[in-house]
Amino acid sequence: MKIQENISLKAYNTFGIDVKAKFFTEIRSKEDVLEAITFAKNAELPILILGGGSNVLFTSDLEALVLKINIEGIGQIKQVNNKVILAAGAGVIWHDFVLYSLEHNLAGIENLSLIPGTVGAAPMQNIGAYGVEIKAVFHSLEAIEISTGISKTFFPKDVNFGYRESVFKKDLKGKYIIYKVNFNLSTSHEPNISYGDIQKVLEEMNHASPTAKNISEAVISIRQSKLPDPKFIGNAGSFFKNPIITTEIYNELKHTYPALPGYPNGPSHIKIPAAFLIENTGWKGKKIGKVGVHDKQPLVLVNHGGGKGKDILELSQKIQLDVQNKFGIFLEREVNLINDKSLIHL
Ligand SMILES: Cc1cc2nc3c(=O)[nH]c(=O)nc-3n(C[C@H](O)[C@H](O)[C@H](O)COP(=O)(O)OP(=O)(O)OC[C@H]3O[C@@H](n4cnc5c(N)ncnc54)[C@H](O)[C@@H]3O)c2cc1C
Repeated sequence: MKIQENISLKAYNTFGIDVKAKFFTEIRSKEDVLEAITFAKNAELPILILGGGSNVLFTSDLEALVLKINIEGIGQIKQVNNKVILAAGAGVIWHDFVLYSLEHNLAGIENLSLIPGTVGAAPMQNIGAYGVEIKAVFHSLEAIEISTGISKTFFPKDVNFGYRESVFKKDLKGKYIIYKVNFNLSTSHEPNISYGDIQKVLEEMNHASPTAKNISEAVISIRQSKLPDPKFIGNAGSFFKNPIITTEIYNELKHTYPALPGYPNGPSHIKIPAAFLIENTGWKGKKIGKVGVHDKQPLVLVNHGGGKGKDILELSQKIQLDVQNKFGIFLEREVNLINDKSLIHL
């Protein structure tokens, strides 16, 4: 394990924010995790765990050891009839894992194609898209407890998945490093194409009985047409979560804003698109200096080049204030804010 000093994290976050890490190391195995923890403990340094950097906003240099998780490997654990348990190292690129599953005729995660980031970060916020969350295919994960170095297996009942939530963002925040995730996939395919434009795109592609691969292609095509590619314009996908409000409040708002969309979320709640609220406070496509709101998808804040983390944070706070004043709704951040206060102290 090689420890590097004073490393720019610009290439390691999709916002392209140029902050420095005092120390930086690539983690390629479970043993590297333990070695890095020991180094940080001895040097009395806090740590930051980093996957693909596609859901973080850096707002300061980090007096810390950054552990860039690069643990590779994909393999089948067992098959019973049409059910297959497929394991992946935490550093495997999520979309590579989706492609691997499709190449091996395994279905279940095709709707989650092209989500940036790593396998290890996927359970952190229960990644989801086009009507599927990883909760639906999650078997278990293996993680090291940072304070003791002991490995523990987490099953669905331990992880407490919610909308862009898990126990690792709440009670166990900063307590574990995930090094492997196991998924329940299937050799038979039950298409889930009711969400968004999938059906329309599949029709345009002439797929009357779509395979998992066809669905993946449709999702990729939709995502490429709607979302900015971080290679060309810095962003971290949806900056805010879609708010979940009571049906009563929704009905009141709908009276004033008849176009407000809403999707039932349990018996008494409605999920509404944060994008609608941001667009209707006039923020869509706006620029402040080097940062701004994407002109096609207002839920995505962008770094037009050279912007600082604090510029994006300030922009996000202005949006939160305007949405709160106009709609009475607080927009919760989906992106993880990273500064000296959010580091893990050992
Ligand atoms: C263009 C774009 C589109 C996106 N679309 C979606 C979408 O459709 N759906 C969706 O859910 N998300 C989406 N995202 C957000 C992002 O892709 C996911 O949240 C992804 O899972 C983040 O993975 P990462 O490896 O980049 O995590 P990072 O950003 O590196 O880390 C995220 C958090 O997890 C922690 N972490 C990372 N790895 C580990 C580990 N191994 N063990 C413990 N903690 C860890 C980090 O400390 C940090 O707090 C999008 C992002 C972009 C840029």
